[in-house]
Amino acid sequence: MADFANLPNKEGYFGRFGGRFVPETLMRPLEELTRAYLSARQDRGFLDELAYYLKNFAGRPTPLYFAARLSEYFQGPKIYLKREDLCHTGAHKINNVLGQILLARRMQKFRIIAETGAGQHGVATATACALFGLKCHVYMGAEDIRRQAPNVLRMKLLGAEVVPVTSGTKTLKDATNEALRDWMAHPDDTFYCLGSCVGPHPYPMMVRDFQAIIGREARAQHWEAEKREPDYLVACVGGGSNAIGLFFPFLEEASVKMVGVEAAGAASLSKGSVGVLHGAQEYLLQTKSGQILNTHSISAGLDYSGSGPEHSYLKELGRVEYVTANDKEALDGFKLLAKIEGIIPALESSHAIAYLKKLAKLASPDQTVIVNLSGRGDKDLDEVSRLIRR
Ligand SMILES: *Cc1c(COP(=O)(O)O)cnc(C)c1O
Repeated sequence: MADFANLPNKEGYFGRFGGRFVPETLMRPLEELTRAYLSARQDRGFLDELAYYLKNFAGRPTPLYFAARLSEYFQGPKIYLKREDLCHTGAHKINNVLGQILLARRMQKFRIIAETGAGQHGVATATACALFGLKCHVYMGAEDIRRQAPNVLRMKLLGAEVVPVTSGTKTLKDATNEALRDWMAHPDDTFYCLGSCVGPHPYPMMVRDFQAIIGREARAQHWEAEKREPDYLVACVGGGSNAIGLFFPFLEEASVKMVGVEAAGAASLSKGSVGVLHGAQEYLLQTKSGQILNTHSISAGLDYSGSGPEHSYLKELGRVEYVTANDKEALDGFKLLAKIEGIIPALESSHAIAYLKKLAKLASPDQTVIVNLSGRGDKDLDEVSRLIRR
């Protein structure tokens, strides 16, 4: 099996995926960031500080909850839910943001920029900047600002400046381009806090490492409950950070099967081809001539044309299976978990719940599955009420 623990290589490649496809002016800041991160992750002081904020501010460890009624409903494997929905700000994103913002402070960079689509990563970043008194600028497509008013208000209350982006389709990929442009113009005092395991090296590696706390906790908690490894792991995939966070500590356990669930309308791994997006080579959705395709999903967090390079590599190796769930299947998963377990999941996480119907036919009651419940559904109530009324 591949030496998963030591990926990526020095140039930031997972097999043929990843790398740094960026303008020359970004090479120096990316190298500086890589050096700072590699030094920080070996530094006891940095790791202790991160552990302190993960525990006392974000609320870790999150429970691994045995969903008894959901397991009985499907008549398949025993279902455990990793409760990232219980993190402060309502999703796993805070794990990565706390890591990056502590790194920014260590690098003496006190101006923070971020991109956001639905606003979830923007809110997490604005939260961590408020915590440490840092200036925060969040690039957001004008169309997304209109659609995601509550998160725009949250970011403003947290003291962030939300910068509207009016180029292109006025959505996430345009906001990401604008954030990269800002970073090119201000590399000395600015830290770019990126929201998923995508982009040029070292981001896919760094974001994975910060999210791997999910899998480390889940593995220990599953051992405590079952005295063995789980049979399956299931997580939704947008850029792929909550999924790689759960999967990473298990990659070398060949008996653990892993499934990444994409939105059917944004299925870069299941249906895409290899190209370059936001500085990395990866599977993405593009036309024959290489134009990035627009995507659709009811969950804004899965609505992205690419997926991180490590997922692209795991797909090519066959180590992880990537499948899709459509809007209706996700909405059914959303309603089911609310009714049967008393947990209203994020629409993103509902795609992972939707897969359980298929898994029930493959796995038996003496097996177990860990589903990553990446976030809670409060943010999705308007969208869901619109969909239910239709
Ligand atoms: C942002 C988000 C996702 C998708 O991002 P990944 O990087 O694929 O994890 C999934 N779930 C929730 C709740 C989110 O906020």
